Amino acid sequence: MAHIDAGKTTTTERILYYTGKSHRIGEVDDGEATMDWMEQEQERGITIQSAATTTYWQKTENGVKGERCQINIIDTPGHVDFTAEVERSLRVLDGAIAIFDALRGVEPQTETVWRQAARYKVPCIGYINKMDRIGADFYAALESIKTRLGAKAAALQIPIGKESGFEGVIDLIELKEIRWDAESDGEKMEITPVAPERNEQALQWREKLIDSLSSVSDIVTEKYLAGEELPAALIRQELRKAVLRRAILPIFAGASRRNMGVQPLIDAVLDYLPAPDEVEPAQAHHQKKEELVPVPCKADAPPLALVFKIQYEREAGSLCYVRMYSGSFNTGATVYNIGKKKRERANRILRMHSNRHEPMDTLSAGDIGVIIGLKLAQTGDTLGSEGWPLLLEKMQFPEPVISVSMEPRNLSESEKLKEVLALLSKEDPTFIAKEDEETGQLIISGMGELHLDVLVTRILKEFYLGAKVGAPQVTYRESISVQVERTESFSKVIAGKENAASLTIKVEPLARGSGNKYTWAAKFRDIPEEIRDAVERGVNASFQSGIALGYPCIDIGVTITGVEYSELTGTEMAFEACASLGFDEACKNASPVLLEPIMAVSMVSPKESVGDVISLMTQRGGQVLSMESKAGGDEVKAQAPMAKMFGFMTALRSVSQGRAVFTMEFSHFERKA
Ligand code: GDP
Ligand code: MG
Repeated sequence: MAHIDAGKTTTTERILYYTGKSHRIGEVDDGEATMDWMEQEQERGITIQSAATTTYWQKTENGVKGERCQINIIDTPGHVDFTAEVERSLRVLDGAIAIFDALRGVEPQTETVWRQAARYKVPCIGYINKMDRIGADFYAALESIKTRLGAKAAALQIPIGKESGFEGVIDLIELKEIRWDAESDGEKMEITPVAPERNEQALQWREKLIDSLSSVSDIVTEKYLAGEELPAALIRQELRKAVLRRAILPIFAGASRRNMGVQPLIDAVLDYLPAPDEVEPAQAHHQKKEELVPVPCKADAPPLALVFKIQYEREAGSLCYVRMYSGSFNTGATVYNIGKKKRERANRILRMHSNRHEPMDTLSAGDIGVIIGLKLAQTGDTLGSEGWPLLLEKMQFPEPVISVSMEPRNLSESEKLKEVLALLSKEDPTFIAKEDEETGQLIISGMGELHLDVLVTRILKEFYLGAKVGAPQVTYRESISVQVERTESFSKVIAGKENAASLTIKVEPLARGSGNKYTWAAKFRDIPEEIRDAVERGVNASFQSGIALGYPCIDIGVTITGVEYSELTGTEMAFEACASLGFDEACKNASPVLLEPIMAVSMVSPKESVGDVISLMTQRGGQVLSMESKAGGDEVKAQAPMAKMFGFMTALRSVSQGRAVFTMEFSHFERKA
């Protein structure tokens, strides 16, 4: 995980090469990276989808090969528009390598992914890449990791030389120098004792490492105070414990593009990052007991898996990526979708190697793989067995904030377009497509201009559809400002049969950022489950379709406080419709409000133009929050309404002679003035 361009894909390509997974190094710059296999990724030179890959590594210690370990890797995109891909990867992975650019240190998106990793308590190691770049500064980058991420970073290596004179690293645990052989693409390493002229510096940094470690390990403190030697194995063991608790962030150095620094990083994955059964067990909500229960990573237990990604492939259909938390699924097995209460068949099971795959007989606890044949499964669903009704915690996805309209060329393409949009929004939870009831236009919403641009290009190129695409617009939200309770009755005769329902619905405003909450008051436990599900469906549909203007609703609490149900006439259809109607009417009377997305903007500009950058921001209704001088230029942080941010990149370039850069991500919703 990292900010865009730190070198995630470049590093992953090396990992695949040195572990023997690929036979040559695919270079991002030549559009040939194995992990960036989508046509647009290769054209744009960026990662858009997180690709999953499995490889194997044996650590060599003193010339002896150790145990062969399986490593599942997910290379993630860095651009903020594709945050959802990062979110789901961190949700299902057990460890992460945070990659930093040696010149830039911590960048805005690094802070975002760091927060995401913290939220899912993912143990991390750090890698300062691009040591060969002009201006590379390992120590400044290390400092920025401490100050800006607040991480307890401890260097396990220090670089030998820098920029074009970057030669290799000093391993502070073994006190050895490591150099890579350019002839063999860095495959061969030369390991030598620390040169006398670097000895003092190496010892100083080793001292700092032991110091950091003793603050989190009693064993190390004791030995240290007693003046005892600290064996390398003990240091690694204690570091491992601390990394698993996220108490320390070990830092490595390298230049992946020049094939330097990667093998010790793979060793570090085995040394410091957890195996699936070493992390805290996942927590799941027991539907019957209504409580959280731990799910230990055990293969001989009932199956439980989380769907974290759906990807459409022309030949295979929907690829359903799962992380197995417990038990196993075999090819041909019946899989129970716990939330949807439906059975499906796992026709095939695959292990993924970016866009290639290998058939498997079984997926078991700790594994990441793909199931083919599931039609109902969606991102966030829990798959398991009927006897063990546990729901794993879903991932949180950010809200789409911009939209464009799409007008198909003709009627026949219109249906096809709708199908494609449905397919794509199943793949990507931050992409929403809907039809504007009044104009008949199709509106697609996503995270940013790049996100929508990538999707539109896919629709036009991959699915050969033509459409007129409108200018980007803000996706507003609707909410309410007072509490209202209302009783709604519904009755309709269909095919001679009466369908009737009556519900009392309370709607109330919730604090910003709470999301929507739906509650079924406990006293109506005896109402049949299908009816309760129908009511929830009705309310959820209304959350999506809005109140007065058709924008999605947020921060509304809905409680069903009264139910009249008769076995004779109470149908699912009646209750679903009644819930929708009741919600709409209650909200219309609850002083509805329109909310607009406010973006957090982070700009880096050369000193000379920072004044112009700030006034550009103010002109656009933005509020400058902070300014800080850094190695790469002055960093300005601000907040601005999304509505004022269209075309900001062009304007920013023109006031800074093309030298200022910015990133922007959703911050919060605010009442529109
Ligand atoms: P990602 O966005 O984190 O996946 O970054 P990429 O792997 O796509 O790399 C972004 C750019 O940085 C590419 O042009 C790489 O060739 C370049 N790059 C990656 N690693 C290094 C390195 O060690 N040194 C230098 N100088 N450039 C690098
Ligand atoms: Mg990449």
